[in-house]
Amino acid sequence: MAILLFAEHDNATLSEQTAKALSAATQIGGDIDILVAGSGVGAVADQAAKLAGIRSVLVADNDALANHLAENAADLIVSLAGDYDTIVAAATANGKNILPRVAALLDVMQVSEVMEVVDADTFKRPIYAGNAIEVVQSTDAKKVLTIRTSSFGAAAAGDSAAEIKLVDAGSANSGKSSFLENILSENDRPELGSAKIIVSGGRALGSEDKFKSVITPLADKLGAAVGASRAAVDAGYAPNDLQVGQTGKVVAPDLYIACGISGAIQHLAGMKDSKIIVAINTDEEAPIFQVADYGIVGDLFEILPQLENQL
Ligand code: FAD
Repeated sequence: MAILLFAEHDNATLSEQTAKALSAATQIGGDIDILVAGSGVGAVADQAAKLAGIRSVLVADNDALANHLAENAADLIVSLAGDYDTIVAAATANGKNILPRVAALLDVMQVSEVMEVVDADTFKRPIYAGNAIEVVQSTDAKKVLTIRTSSFGAAAAGDSAAEIKLVDAGSANSGKSSFLENILSENDRPELGSAKIIVSGGRALGSEDKFKSVITPLADKLGAAVGASRAAVDAGYAPNDLQVGQTGKVVAPDLYIACGISGAIQHLAGMKDSKIIVAINTDEEAPIFQVADYGIVGDLFEILPQLENQL
């Protein structure tokens, strides 16, 4: 059994998502090679080589791979796929963009958002916004899997570095797509997907100004990332990259503080695996209290400033 794990990185630093996807790959079992595809990725390859339990790191270095264009990355993975039984990536924006193309090109099904490995053919994944767990057994000769990384811990660093091998990336430019520009939102807070603490606001905030003036100071005090419900995002109180939930980000921080969020199933789908959930809501019947470890029934506009003062 050989497994190819597609690495998530920004050409300089290996993302922790890769170490988490590696934990899933390790549970499948077999020889694991990590593919680092990008431009000028020597440092990323060195970081990947230090992860425990891998056989080798394959490096595909080409300007056409710098921006993770799915067409180019998928062609590269397919060119290597003959040597592997299973192809794995984290279910990030990149993984969800690239691996379905790989599956289509290989004419196999993709198993998406794997949250538990039962055995090398059988996986558990959420359906109906996480309200049911589906057990999927794949009979395809090659498995293509995206991993829900919030369900797996990060693999540790190993005692020694694995071998790094260069692979042919000479024809990496498929010509099917081209990179125009990358517009990044500026944010000096922890990234939502990897933050240890998240303070999240809902429709109850009532305006963009109140969202900023009530949620942000508490997040600042806690060194937390800021999240939002879809209602808050749709109303323009918070940018859409802060949305937590079924159609937003799936998070599992140590502490999730939900402020004025009712707890619709689509929101719970994105945060119910958080270790400790604190909910602040005026309605004691709000569904968020069913998943909360600590609940405060009250007005967030009174409670959050008090909490901030206490901190
Ligand atoms: P509401 O449901 O309106 O809740 C506001 C809460 O604030 C209420 O419980 C109220 O009691 C409380 N409140 C009011 N005033 C105060 C106060 N002063 N202090 C304290 N509490 C107060 N939603 C997501 O969040 N993420 C998703 O990814 C997502 N994806 C979706 C996908 C689909 C296909 C669909 C159909 C829906 C999706 N939704 C998603 C929307 C979801 O169904 C809910 O509409 C949304 O989560 C509600 O947001 P909310 O809790 O902020 O607002």
